[in-house]
Amino acid sequence: MTRVTVDEAARLWHEASDEELRELARVERARWHEPDRATYMIMRIINYTNVCVAQCDYCAFYVLPGQDGGYVLDRGEVFAKIDELLEVGGDLVGFNGGFNPKLPLDYYCDLFAAVRERYGERVEFYALTIAEFLFLADRAELSYADAAARLRDAGVHWVTGGGSEILTEDFRRRHAKFKYTVAEYFAAQRAIVESGMRTTATMVIGFDETLEERLEHLQRTRDFQDGCLRDGYDGLFSFLCWTYKPYGTALGGREIEPREYWRHIALSRIFLDNVRHVRTSVLTLNDDAFRALDYGADDFDLPIEDEVTQKAGAHIDLDLERLLEIPRKLGYTVAYRRAERPAALTA
Ligand code: SF4
Repeated sequence: MTRVTVDEAARLWHEASDEELRELARVERARWHEPDRATYMIMRIINYTNVCVAQCDYCAFYVLPGQDGGYVLDRGEVFAKIDELLEVGGDLVGFNGGFNPKLPLDYYCDLFAAVRERYGERVEFYALTIAEFLFLADRAELSYADAAARLRDAGVHWVTGGGSEILTEDFRRRHAKFKYTVAEYFAAQRAIVESGMRTTATMVIGFDETLEERLEHLQRTRDFQDGCLRDGYDGLFSFLCWTYKPYGTALGGREIEPREYWRHIALSRIFLDNVRHVRTSVLTLNDDAFRALDYGADDFDLPIEDEVTQKAGAHIDLDLERLLEIPRKLGYTVAYRRAERPAALTA
């Protein structure tokens, strides 16, 4: 299949039937994965603090410094959450919190080193999102390269592409003006890649973004990955898209329909011809997430907690066996996938 341009992707979005999109996505998926196989992880987001100065208008999670209800989890609470995750068979933690001015980079390095020391390779963790990384590097007055080296030396293997939402400068000006520019986002992500850690691409749809903005996000992601591959790096491990939950947010709005999400997953799979995994979001789509496997997705998380999206209306189903039956009934064998240790950090 030849590479799809932005104009062609827009035409597909407007004119292709669901069946046509599914078929094109199926062809691209088959370049990377067995057609009737999907992989999954059991994971938990640990929201270590809800104190944040970024004030994104689509967020129902944060409180400002000094406001009632702000918290920072202590080490014991973090360990208890990881222990619970291990008990239900999971092994992936995503640390995600706010831009808390009281927590310096050292706090994170100490926390991540303690997690690595206590759990070794039994647990893998996504230490931060790119957005949080940007804030910490800024506060520490370090270059992105130096901040990345500090995390890597503390035992971090992964910094995810979270905090991207829609990667256009205009979207960020409208909704998240303190959350760094797109140029800064990709510069920081490139420093993560060059440090030897791994990273991922993410995207959130269903705010007020236009089709052009969605496609710009995909184009920038593909360009970033082209640059990584050209320079000899593995770059982005995966692309995960989830949907905006509007409840309790300043922005408000309505949730998009699952069909729109499935079509977007197909378009993403077709467009991102240089990214191995396309992941569907059980966290925000629940049972409807699995149909995205027919639209090009090959991998998913079964999350047991994420306060950020739960505060905005996400419902988490802890009956993991019931959930796994859904892709099986759709004709997929499902296999557990452990997070890989980056090749550059292999001892
Ligand atoms: S989305 Fe993240 S950065 Fe934005 S206000 Fe919420 S916690 Fe802060």
